[in-house]
Amino acid sequence: MKITAAVVRERAGPFVIDAIDLQDPRPDELLVRVKASGMCQTDLHGRDGYYGTPFPAVFGHEGAGVVEAVGSAVRKFAPGDHVIMSYPWCGDCPNCRSNHMSYCFDAWGLKMRGTRADGSTLMQRAGTPVYSAFFQQSSFATHAIANERYAVKVRSDAPLDVLGPFACSIQTGAGAVLNAMRPRAGEGFALFGAGAVGLSGLMAAKIAGCDPIIVVDIHDQRLAIARELGATHTINHAARLDSVAEMRRVTGGGVHYSLETSAVPAVFRTAVEVLMPGGTCILVGSARPGVDVALDMSFLQNGRSVRGVIQGDSVPETFIPKLVDLMLAGQLPVERMMTFYDLADINRAATDAAQGTTIKPVLRMPGGEV
Ligand SMILES: [Zn+2]
Ligand SMILES: [Zn+2]
Repeated sequence: MKITAAVVRERAGPFVIDAIDLQDPRPDELLVRVKASGMCQTDLHGRDGYYGTPFPAVFGHEGAGVVEAVGSAVRKFAPGDHVIMSYPWCGDCPNCRSNHMSYCFDAWGLKMRGTRADGSTLMQRAGTPVYSAFFQQSSFATHAIANERYAVKVRSDAPLDVLGPFACSIQTGAGAVLNAMRPRAGEGFALFGAGAVGLSGLMAAKIAGCDPIIVVDIHDQRLAIARELGATHTINHAARLDSVAEMRRVTGGGVHYSLETSAVPAVFRTAVEVLMPGGTCILVGSARPGVDVALDMSFLQNGRSVRGVIQGDSVPETFIPKLVDLMLAGQLPVERMMTFYDLADINRAATDAAQGTTIKPVLRMPGGEV
């Protein structure tokens, strides 16, 4: 079928809105009419060639929409279902088999290769392949094909416009807190980086009853949003405040938990230095391979731990519906960090995100009314 997609024709090139061909779904796949898709830093890194995804390519990995057709072997979904397309996993490696699918052995390839696991592409333009299985969805398009394994059914009374980012950034931040840290009420929480992942973690820390909730960022407007969402203290790192001293002043002996989202080694180090003895720092910021950090060994030995977490340690099929319920109950006001754009304005959305004026761009697809 003919669809409209934002195609990147060459490395670091602009997104170009184009008509291209999408295949029919295979027996275990769904055809999804995309209503809206969040845009992540990862999409822009993909556009810029950091991950080796071949071009031309369609990016996008936070798609939400309505199932339009299902393959012959699909059992869990039917046309008309509202779905979020979450991160892909192979279903067959030791981590997938033990429900730790965010650490799938083939996660990187399934996300970045731009093809299905068997090397096939899903889209063509004038008979030539378009690399179109970015995160096995390529959601910057009016339609996408998703494997039923990682599509997640969501309640139909939730507004689809805001659901896409649950697929990646919201699940990543909220899951790092609710699934990996599991803080108890009254325990201290510090967030480094008030982007979409970080603010999702902050909202989760508030749900868990953390106190204090301290947020460090370099943008005053982001710190203002962090205060609205539940931060009890904010620190503007650009103002050269000593974050460690300031946190010790607020907490006495440091925080139980810190969440590092910036992927900057010096910030990561600070996120460890603010821990009380026995505290845990969770690293979710994605640095490029080869980036090192120096940590004080004797400081770490005092019961402190550091853990990397991907996609919030979550099992999307159960965790995402739980988060959607929290949103509808008013406890996860995720729309507060979103700015909406038409797909035609995708390049402006990318620029705004890169400059930090928009926290979470969400692209609305043409003809996506439900
Ligand atoms: Zn796997
Ligand atoms: Zn993402």
